[in-house]
Amino acid sequence: MRNFIKIVTFIAGFAIIAAGCTTENDNMNFRKIERFTQKQDGDGNISFSFDQNGRTLNFEGQFGKRAIYLDNVKLWLAFPLTPVDNSPAIRNEDWTFSILPLLNNRENKLNTIILDPGHGGEHPGAKGKFSIEKELNRKIADLTGEILRQRGYTVLYTRADDETVELEPRAEAGCFADIFVSIHCNAAPNPDANGIETFSITPKGAPNSNDSDHSMAVNVNDDATGYQHCADSFALAYAIQKKLIESTGANDRGAKRARFHVLYRNSVPAVLVECGFVSNENEEKLLNNPEYQLKIARAIADGIDNYRKGML
Ligand SMILES: [Zn+2]
Repeated sequence: MRNFIKIVTFIAGFAIIAAGCTTENDNMNFRKIERFTQKQDGDGNISFSFDQNGRTLNFEGQFGKRAIYLDNVKLWLAFPLTPVDNSPAIRNEDWTFSILPLLNNRENKLNTIILDPGHGGEHPGAKGKFSIEKELNRKIADLTGEILRQRGYTVLYTRADDETVELEPRAEAGCFADIFVSIHCNAAPNPDANGIETFSITPKGAPNSNDSDHSMAVNVNDDATGYQHCADSFALAYAIQKKLIESTGANDRGAKRARFHVLYRNSVPAVLVECGFVSNENEEKLLNNPEYQLKIARAIADGIDNYRKGML
């Protein structure tokens, strides 16, 4: 009985200490945004700006939301925009791994690109009414590679034709290149789901964009190689997503964060593009249209070019 009470006391004491620490740490973990305008549009939109080394970027967002916009293109913070002392604030992780990479993106040395057409062989990927993801991924990757070669890049692929390649050797192939770009098509149980999204590795300790609970704790001691290029990967993802949305006019699902194996285990800046949903009637037709495939391929190549030039 005595032991039981001791445990309860210990737990209660710990809870109080932990609560005190959390409050203090929470303020320290945020970066207050000094330059902002709260719009009177009824939607609670907030415009805010950051400057660094002569570059200014103007964003839009809402309190409590992780999705914000730069040049009307969506990007996902790891944590929601939060009010601190009457100012909007973002978490330090988001400043370091989402905002700074965009402010600081300058010319990158970029010669060799690995293109990774998702799935293949025994792994068909998503299935639409009349198409199989692995085949669409292959076509789009081939077109992208051709364009990149014409622009002077060296292009390597993780799979030749309809070959079965596991995820680990795909991720390891990154070491032969300067960047890694995985190409996929999406599917969802809801046939209305549509649009394009581009993933890069989630900042260490932060939740993924698709996690519904954005306060969930994640192992901060995780030392996967993918984290080493968390910032550059995000700049690359944003550059590609922007070109894809501008070129196709597709629904913008944003530059997102995930711990997909090919991102998590990669050793160079790496992204995974979801070019559209084969489970959506309209998008399946588009994804099978050679002109649309070329449009997607050109946009991916343009995004890579812009990342290399330090243009967003
Ligand atoms: Zn896939």
